[in-house]
Amino acid sequence: MTEELIIQEIENNTGEYIQFLRDLIQTESYNPPGNEKNVALKIQQYLKDANIESDIFPFGDNRANLIATLKDDSKGKNLLFNGHMDVVPPGIEEEWKVPPLSATIKRKKIFGRGATDMKGGLAAMVITLKILKKLGVKLSGNLILNAVGDEETHGLLGTKWCVDNKLEAISIDFTLIGEPTNISPLPHAIMLGERGRVLVKVVTNGISAHAALSPLGRNAIYMMSKIIEKLDKLDEYMPHVEPPIKMERLKKLVGDSFVNQEIFNKFFDEQPRLQAIVDSLIKSTRVLTMISGGIKDNVVPDMCEAIIDFRLLAGQKVEEIINGFSQLIRNEVGFDVKDGPTGNPEDIFVYLEILSASEGSYWKDWEDSKDLQLLYKLISETYQKKPFYFLYPPSSDAHYLRNSGFCSQTIMFGPGNAFTAHSTNEYIEIQDFINSIKVYTLFAYHFLK
Ligand SMILES: [Zn+2]
Repeated sequence: MTEELIIQEIENNTGEYIQFLRDLIQTESYNPPGNEKNVALKIQQYLKDANIESDIFPFGDNRANLIATLKDDSKGKNLLFNGHMDVVPPGIEEEWKVPPLSATIKRKKIFGRGATDMKGGLAAMVITLKILKKLGVKLSGNLILNAVGDEETHGLLGTKWCVDNKLEAISIDFTLIGEPTNISPLPHAIMLGERGRVLVKVVTNGISAHAALSPLGRNAIYMMSKIIEKLDKLDEYMPHVEPPIKMERLKKLVGDSFVNQEIFNKFFDEQPRLQAIVDSLIKSTRVLTMISGGIKDNVVPDMCEAIIDFRLLAGQKVEEIINGFSQLIRNEVGFDVKDGPTGNPEDIFVYLEILSASEGSYWKDWEDSKDLQLLYKLISETYQKKPFYFLYPPSSDAHYLRNSGFCSQTIMFGPGNAFTAHSTNEYIEIQDFINSIKVYTLFAYHFLK
């Protein structure tokens, strides 16, 4: 078996692969509510036609995870492919140029919800199993595909459940997550880590009064505005954490994909969006995203609610954010912070409720990894462009793999432009999709050879 045979096989069957990806996009799995089982059944059938067994693990209402393994008798290495089957809802469908479930092909792209995030990467992973099986490639080890649900709603029932209940006993040597890692106009990135995210609801409780007698009340919206004003002081109330990769090093890593650093520096200076991304990756940040308060135009509001989206550096703990924020409210604004509503309308206080929490993660020893060098080489050759090592701007399921000690050697690489994820008219470039099949298949072939 040679690389050429694998590439030939892929090039002879691109039509079939495109059709399979379109089929997955056309299979509705909007989360919420999920419906990932629809996709799991499609994957199971595709694998069955290739004589590959898979197991579906249902949960909730029409939801599921799936695991399939290409096994070998010898006890070699274990390579894990992880990809999510759920997609975010399409938003206002009238704003789409094509229906979001149509998987319409136009200008060498496939348009539809999930094309980029991440049915493209998922389809490429499923197809990899089929190719290796069909060509009878002798593997020394196991290639495990874990197609998960629930990623778009924090992954507890998807990746976390699979790791805790079905994969725990397997010693995984390397995990590849197929999330989209093209950050246009740059080439593809290999993501070594990610920030975490904590969503917190802040509730201020004041005292209601007639607006004509406002001094008798305590305005909960004014209370909230005092907290908002002090938000930027939060870093003073949390233990200092160094970013996993510092600014200059991050810029150097991106610049390595350019002809030279000088050209990159010129390019970087003219790219405010890229500057903002790099800057965000080295900081813990927070932003108020929603606010509501008041019940009538002539009543002093006794309650105001706000949602704050905190982003954590790898190594920062959720408790550190919550404790620091509580301290800030007490010290800087002077409000009492309680665990929940007291039920007494005369009490003036604040309470915090964690709506969701995921910590950041980072693969510390990536620089010594031969596997990573192999992946880098395959991406360079296939795309005819050098990739670069980077950190993933949003949060993902990777922390469930890295932080638990299950598999710190977890990276993200997948087809699709990360900026079109979750947006109207999401699309994937067909060549990018086909290239990712080549990279995944050749990587699995060399890794398990
Ligand atoms: Zn995704």
